[in-house]
Amino acid sequence: MTVRTAPTGTESTLAELLPLSDARGWHRAACRGDPNHEAWFPYPSEDFAYARTICASCPIRAACADFAAETGQSGVWGGHEFDRGRMVRE
Ligand code: SF4
Repeated sequence: MTVRTAPTGTESTLAELLPLSDARGWHRAACRGDPNHEAWFPYPSEDFAYARTICASCPIRAACADFAAETGQSGVWGGHEFDRGRMVRE
Protein backbone atom coordinates (compact mmCIF):
# COMPACT_ATOMS: atom_id res chain seq x y z
CA MET A 1 0.00 0.00 0.00
CA THR A 2 1.38 3.38 -0.95
CA VAL A 3 0.62 6.45 1.16
CA ARG A 4 2.19 9.59 -0.21
CA THR A 5 -0.07 12.61 0.24
CA ALA A 6 -3.31 13.55 1.94
CA PRO A 7 -6.34 13.55 -0.34
CA THR A 8 -7.30 17.07 -1.32
CA GLY A 9 -10.28 18.61 0.40
CA THR A 10 -10.78 16.05 3.17
CA GLU A 11 -10.56 16.20 6.93
CA SER A 12 -8.61 12.94 7.19
CA THR A 13 -6.16 12.56 10.01
CA LEU A 14 -2.70 11.20 9.42
CA ALA A 15 -3.56 8.01 11.27
CA GLU A 16 -6.38 7.43 8.79
CA LEU A 17 -3.89 7.69 5.95
CA LEU A 18 -1.62 5.08 7.46
CA PRO A 19 -1.96 1.47 6.35
CA LEU A 20 -4.99 -0.28 7.80
CA SER A 21 -3.05 -2.91 9.66
CA ASP A 22 -3.05 -3.67 13.36
CA ALA A 23 0.14 -5.67 12.91
CA ARG A 24 2.26 -2.55 13.40
CA GLY A 25 -0.04 -0.96 15.96
CA TRP A 26 -0.99 2.01 13.80
CA HIS A 27 -3.99 2.67 16.03
CA ARG A 28 -1.49 3.77 18.73
CA ALA A 29 0.11 6.41 16.48
CA ALA A 30 1.00 9.59 18.37
CA CYS A 31 0.05 11.62 15.29
CA ARG A 32 -3.47 10.22 15.37
CA GLY A 33 -5.91 13.12 15.27
CA ASP A 34 -3.21 15.74 14.85
CA PRO A 35 -4.58 18.54 12.62
CA ASN A 36 -1.16 19.65 11.35
CA HIS A 37 -1.02 17.18 8.44
CA GLU A 38 1.44 19.27 6.46
CA ALA A 39 4.12 18.53 9.04
CA TRP A 40 4.18 14.91 7.80
CA PHE A 41 2.91 15.13 4.20
CA PRO A 42 3.46 16.10 1.51
CA TYR A 43 7.20 15.85 1.03
CA PRO A 44 9.13 17.95 1.92
CA SER A 45 7.63 18.58 5.33
CA GLU A 46 6.31 22.07 5.99
CA ASP A 47 7.21 21.74 9.69
CA PHE A 48 9.72 18.95 10.24
CA ALA A 49 10.54 20.06 13.80
CA TYR A 50 6.89 19.77 14.81
CA ALA A 51 6.45 16.30 13.31
CA ARG A 52 9.70 15.14 14.82
CA THR A 53 8.59 16.26 18.28
CA ILE A 54 5.32 14.31 18.01
CA CYS A 55 7.09 11.24 16.63
CA ALA A 56 9.57 11.30 19.52
CA SER A 57 6.84 10.12 21.92
CA CYS A 58 5.24 7.61 19.55
CA PRO A 59 5.24 3.97 20.73
CA ILE A 60 5.50 2.63 17.18
CA ARG A 61 8.24 4.94 16.00
CA ALA A 62 10.69 2.23 14.93
CA ALA A 63 8.07 0.22 13.06
CA CYS A 64 6.86 3.37 11.33
CA ALA A 65 10.33 4.25 10.02
CA ASP A 66 10.92 0.64 8.95
CA PHE A 67 7.66 0.66 7.04
CA ALA A 68 8.59 3.84 5.18
CA ALA A 69 11.97 2.45 4.17
CA GLU A 70 10.58 -0.93 3.15
CA THR A 71 7.71 0.41 1.08
CA GLY A 72 9.28 3.51 -0.49
CA GLN A 73 7.31 6.19 1.31
CA SER A 74 7.91 9.94 1.29
CA GLY A 75 7.22 12.32 4.16
CA VAL A 76 7.97 12.12 7.87
CA TRP A 77 7.83 8.60 9.29
CA GLY A 78 9.23 7.56 12.65
CA GLY A 79 10.67 11.02 13.23
CA HIS A 80 12.71 10.92 10.03
CA GLU A 81 12.01 12.43 6.64
CA PHE A 82 11.98 10.06 3.69
CA ASP A 83 12.08 10.56 -0.06
CA ARG A 84 10.75 7.44 -1.76
CA GLY A 85 12.03 5.20 0.99
CA ARG A 86 15.41 6.89 1.36
CA MET A 87 16.01 8.72 4.64
CA VAL A 88 16.95 12.33 3.88
CA ARG A 89 16.64 13.90 7.35
CA GLU A 90 17.33 12.20 10.66
S1 SF4 B 1 6.30 7.62 14.35
FE1 SF4 B 1 5.46 9.62 13.82
S2 SF4 B 1 4.56 9.41 11.77
FE2 SF4 B 1 4.90 7.33 12.61
S3 SF4 B 1 2.93 6.80 13.53
FE3 SF4 B 1 4.22 7.66 15.14
S4 SF4 B 1 3.73 9.84 15.22
FE4 SF4 B 1 2.93 9.03 13.28
